[in-house]
Amino acid sequence: MLGLMQQHPLLISSLIDFAARHHGDGQVVSRRVEGDIHRYTWADVQRRSKQLAKALDDEGLKAGERVGTLAWNGYRHLELYFGVSGSERVLHTINPRLLPEQIAWIANHAEDQIICFDTTFLPIIQGIHAHCKTVKRWVALCDADKLPQDTGIPNLVSYEAWIGAQSPDYTWPVFDENTASSLCYTSGTTGNPKGALYSHRSTVLHAYASALPDVMGLSASDSALPVVPMFHVNAWGMPYSAAMVGCKLVFPGPALDGKSVYELIEGEKVTFAAGVPTVWQMLLGYVGQNKLKFSTLKRTVIGGSACPPAMITAFRDQYGVDVLHAWGMTEMSPLGTLCSLKEKHRDLPEADKMKLRLKQGRAIFGVDMKIVGADGQDQPWDGTTYGDLYVKGPWILGRYFKDEGGDPLEDGWFPTGDVATIDADGFMQITDRSKDVIKSGGEWISSIDVENTAMAHPAVAMAACIGMPHPKWDERPIVAVALKPGAQVTREELLQFFEGKMAKWQIPDDVVFVDAIPLGATGKMLKTKLREQLKDYKLPSL
Ligand code: AMP
Repeated sequence: MLGLMQQHPLLISSLIDFAARHHGDGQVVSRRVEGDIHRYTWADVQRRSKQLAKALDDEGLKAGERVGTLAWNGYRHLELYFGVSGSERVLHTINPRLLPEQIAWIANHAEDQIICFDTTFLPIIQGIHAHCKTVKRWVALCDADKLPQDTGIPNLVSYEAWIGAQSPDYTWPVFDENTASSLCYTSGTTGNPKGALYSHRSTVLHAYASALPDVMGLSASDSALPVVPMFHVNAWGMPYSAAMVGCKLVFPGPALDGKSVYELIEGEKVTFAAGVPTVWQMLLGYVGQNKLKFSTLKRTVIGGSACPPAMITAFRDQYGVDVLHAWGMTEMSPLGTLCSLKEKHRDLPEADKMKLRLKQGRAIFGVDMKIVGADGQDQPWDGTTYGDLYVKGPWILGRYFKDEGGDPLEDGWFPTGDVATIDADGFMQITDRSKDVIKSGGEWISSIDVENTAMAHPAVAMAACIGMPHPKWDERPIVAVALKPGAQVTREELLQFFEGKMAKWQIPDDVVFVDAIPLGATGKMLKTKLREQLKDYKLPSL
């Protein structure tokens, strides 16, 4: 017997319609590429997304065809989020930090018909446009009078001229909620990137879940700053969840340095911000050096890579900002777990709470997870036994775009490639990417534990731990360290710093000082590159 409730598909267009109707005067503030601050409202976002949908109609773009973006976090990018997906086309956000040839490869693979780009990325577009065979229209995200001239790019138009003449009189089409809405490629550190193709249903369900109190806890009383890029897994879904709750939305544009982010947080009374650890490091550095405080910021979600304990402590103890550690991946829309404590933890000693906060957290309703041992058996949730982490749920990838790589699922579960423990309360902790785990004398050493310990030293800006081949132990860990500007510490002092903080056999054999740890396009440490850099390295004991 079927239920007798109304059938309404979960569509992205309903999010912007809701925001415009119920929070029409709610603000959307953006720092533009030009450096100035742009302000308008949710009602404006709706109106201009509809104008954009009409421009796409005029281009003859069919349902399901892809529109690529190469853009910072800003209001025009937001309009593309709603206008492209809402009109049944697919929004393909491209990471501009990839190499130009990778960008062209992705645009060709996605068969993008139109690509919209911030003028910052003009040189990239000039380099690749001739190789992007399917693109028939290039749109510079700028005012008509700022359109770059003599670029050599065919069919180039400014965004404002393109949508400006269109009427906002447009009715969103209604279609199956399982229709594709947006496409995001994995960073592809091994082999070619693969596309995760989200649906309207998966996106709206993810937006509901991410706004829950134990997740991002977003509400209409928040001023929310997604520092995490809109080209990295839809800025963790924040554009959608912000529209769902009608909060104020603040975009940093290209200015991600500590000073600019701090000024935006204070100027726009930001209460909630989300980003990867590397950006927060710059912010904390600036705030610390200038002896500043946050007057409105209350919560920050940190994820994408392990959040160093020193960062959680600094935010909480020095600035009274709650840090919520989160884990997810492109294939998961991206949210999987978030670390918010339970009622039973309220009276725990601070040190025990801190141990919990370092974990990547509990599964969000909608995400099921398990850890599996080398024998293929489920591992116990005891907080110490580790295994390969598998997930399933309605916003987790079933197959890659164009079926690249075949069926990724194992018995219906998606293998994350992460190794983790889960404790009896369901708090998951990532030990490593499975390919980064260090195997020493039959035991595993967590490179994240080594890095967290090194980064707790006041002189260390960033640390990356990798395994080096060893004839007796199989592998031994070493730690590559980039120091803070002007800071000094010797190899011996740093190795001593590990004593008492980790078991003896887990302490790295050596410290290698480097100018900078190589980072990938989404701000994660590129250990493949570091291994390449250290290919002639020999352990001191050999
Ligand atoms: P991406 O798809 O590029 O977002 O990368 C996803 C991967 O980033 C995950 O599989 C993890 O290896 C890593 N990751 C994400 N969040 C965290 C976190 N909080 N702690 C440790 N690793 C993380």
